[in-house]
Amino acid sequence: MIINMKPEATEEEITHVMERIEECNYQAHVIRGPERTVIRAVGTNGRRAEIEALQAAAGVETIVAITHPFKLVSRQLRHTRTIVDVRGVKIGSREIVVMAGPCSVESREQLMETANSVCRAGAHMLRGGAYKPRTSPYDFQGLGRKALEFLKEASIETGLPVVTEVMSETDVEIVAEYADMLQIGARNMQNFSLLRRVAAFNRPVLLKRGPSATIKEWLLAAEYLLSGGNPNVVLCERGIKTFETATRNTLDLVAVALAKELSHLPVIVDPSHGTGLRNLVPAASRAAVAIGADGLMIEVHPCPERALSDGAQSLDLREFAELMDSLAAIVRLPALEVS
Ligand code: PEP
Ligand code: MN
Repeated sequence: MIINMKPEATEEEITHVMERIEECNYQAHVIRGPERTVIRAVGTNGRRAEIEALQAAAGVETIVAITHPFKLVSRQLRHTRTIVDVRGVKIGSREIVVMAGPCSVESREQLMETANSVCRAGAHMLRGGAYKPRTSPYDFQGLGRKALEFLKEASIETGLPVVTEVMSETDVEIVAEYADMLQIGARNMQNFSLLRRVAAFNRPVLLKRGPSATIKEWLLAAEYLLSGGNPNVVLCERGIKTFETATRNTLDLVAVALAKELSHLPVIVDPSHGTGLRNLVPAASRAAVAIGADGLMIEVHPCPERALSDGAQSLDLREFAELMDSLAAIVRLPALEVS
């Protein structure tokens, strides 16, 4: 529940309300805004009627129930939008953030060439898989730690913050050591022990939507991260499974608009996995920003036909630069200003 304090509420009144919330077996979290203080009471087994009775307490203006099952993620809790800062790149502001790079880090040369090229073309973050979730155990599984080292080197050379996937609980520490943002892959969206472990790390998280996840399940997965103590979460729509086989997945762009209506978290789109076809990536990218996405994640490879994973959906270096030009003509892209 949300307890909206009056703008003139005193510190004593705020403290009193928080103490009463704790006495009723809820957790009290205070959010201090420029105009008023809001206190949220979180929990499932608390004495709800007594919280409602706080309406009569000094300094309390209104008490509102959060009706969504995802509480901390909900816009009922927080009307202002969350901006996630990834080493100076702000996701969720009015400017579109583009993360680009290879599906998999395959070699130092491949990554450096891609990183330098996407940076010149105006990308704001570098992506690249080190630990790859592959459908077949016989396919390339990623270079692991070596790839993390290459990503760090490319990040230092270009200044671009890095986002990369962490697949297992045991790898969270090492990935967090090298990466600026931790990606939870679509297949792991409901790996709750991984979500809990990632929540405990002080790193922004990119949470992909599961291929068969409803929007509610996606937002509840984000709730694991926020309730675990990590408020810096960006949602990523990357296509869902439907009866359609002409595209690899069905890119659910309406989910972007709906997720932004339901949640204060930023939402980006991955049109590469969303379509599986490189010729569709530019149009899907433009559609994503038109519907309100806060950013894009695009797979780029110097030579897609030689890619060890996802070549069919990867843009080459020139195609990516052309996409950035076409986006710049229709939306605001932030100038690169990273430390
Ligand atoms: C990826 O971005 O590298 C990836 C594997 O994506 P997804 O989890 O969406 O399939
Ligand atoms: Mn991929």
